[in-house]
Amino acid sequence: MSTDMTLKIKKTGFDSFFLHQGEEGLAAFEKGMEQVINKLKEVYSNTEQPFIGKTPAEIEKEIAGIMNFAGKGRSLQEVLNELEGPILRNSLHISHEKSMAHLHCPPLLPGIIGECIIGTLNQSMDSWDQSTAATYVEEGMVKWLKEAVGYPETSDGVFTSGGTQSNYMGLLLARDSFCQNQWGHNVQKQGLPADFQRLCILCSEDAHFTVKKSASQLGLGEQAVITVKTDEHHRMSMKDVQVVLKRLEEDGMLPFALVATCGTTDFGSIDPLPELASIAEENSLWFHVDAAFGGGLLLSHSHRDKLEDLEKADSMTIDFHKLFYQPVSCGVFMVKDRRHFGFLSHHADYLNPEKDEDDGIVNLVTKSTSTTRRFDALKLYLSLKTMGVEIFGKMIDRTMELARYTAEYLEGLSNIDLKNKHPEINTIIFRYKPSGGGTDLDELNRAIQQSLLHEGKGVIAKTAVDGETFLKLTLLNPRTGEEDIHELMDEIDKTATQLMNGGLARV
Ligand SMILES: *Cc1c(COP(=O)(O)O)cnc(C)c1O
Repeated sequence: MSTDMTLKIKKTGFDSFFLHQGEEGLAAFEKGMEQVINKLKEVYSNTEQPFIGKTPAEIEKEIAGIMNFAGKGRSLQEVLNELEGPILRNSLHISHEKSMAHLHCPPLLPGIIGECIIGTLNQSMDSWDQSTAATYVEEGMVKWLKEAVGYPETSDGVFTSGGTQSNYMGLLLARDSFCQNQWGHNVQKQGLPADFQRLCILCSEDAHFTVKKSASQLGLGEQAVITVKTDEHHRMSMKDVQVVLKRLEEDGMLPFALVATCGTTDFGSIDPLPELASIAEENSLWFHVDAAFGGGLLLSHSHRDKLEDLEKADSMTIDFHKLFYQPVSCGVFMVKDRRHFGFLSHHADYLNPEKDEDDGIVNLVTKSTSTTRRFDALKLYLSLKTMGVEIFGKMIDRTMELARYTAEYLEGLSNIDLKNKHPEINTIIFRYKPSGGGTDLDELNRAIQQSLLHEGKGVIAKTAVDGETFLKLTLLNPRTGEEDIHELMDEIDKTATQLMNGGLARV
């Protein structure tokens, strides 16, 4: 029987490029994977620094040198050897303990392995007939998250490419729901209502830029986003939000959504969710919580309480490629009342005919602004299963502990001006500030960040606080230790001294 089957596998000229039961396909799969693993092992086993330190021009030139596709194909091994230098060695080593710039996490191994399975299966989440089992895995992960959030049975969610898409979806549903309730106007069918220029969205001045970007894409314009002042902890000011609401009412504006940020990009601050939930309710505003960053605290053992009243949100954004340690990309959009997904649904005869719904067939395209969509739920599934939520929570708590330690340590250093003595999540904002004065601090701090990057000593970020340049550590890696922080700060001190002695512009 099995010999008959093998005999039936036809020979084509493409057999070693596809997965199939023939010996050639399976052997090529195994050999290719082995070669990739060996190459990556080789690179990682002798990468000492988070970044090789080359300039953009140098890297651009090396990449240009390998972008030729004419001629015959070559063996995978040969191509891997060729790209090792330009691509692998010139990449940011994001899992390095001193990679601590952005909300860009070291990926968990189960997540990386998950990517391999995702690519191999290549399911597409839009319709059941392209993602049979995967549909239920994604639905199962959404159910797990509903319980973790404390969301009601009526809630629902869908995986997204990240916070940008999730925030856009939240504001889209908010806009369409408001127009429906206010004027019986169907934006999906009729476009924007006549009075659209009165529509506005409230968020804090520290909210993510994608709130404005969404407003512009929703046809409301960035001017529709009204920013509320923040308090000394960079949280939305409860006083100012009332002032703004009153002013908007007097001006005849129609605020329809209140966006709270749970983990701002720079300070990691969390807007007061319970108060904002009440304000949203009193003013009939759609309450969207952007928890792209802070959503990771759901699994924390010691800091879960920071997410109090998260479940009051009408919709929320959570990124799994941040504090859930998944490879890019992986995010989710959640909505408290699943009926709101109706504003997105469109029935295509070839994909999700209405007849399918009658037959109980689940086509997830009805809940998304995307059509073809990755089976990202699998990598989160694998990570939670293999690590277990207990260890997962400990991992997040460890990074919180390190952030607290780092703040205390920096507080004790001379020449360091620490901006957040009590980090809300795990970012640290500070600048180098020599006691003598007489130095352009913005230029000095920018130069420190650049110099560390090009020496490969540390990958840290720079940002602006009240118009001044500051440095930022985003401490996502649970393997980063206190000693890494000490070494980094010593390096910053050394670099700053060299820069100042080297005649950095004086003011
Ligand atoms: C990262 C982030 C976003 C954007 O999410 P992407 O996953 O990069 O698209 C939005 N809001 C906040 C608060 C974020 O931290």
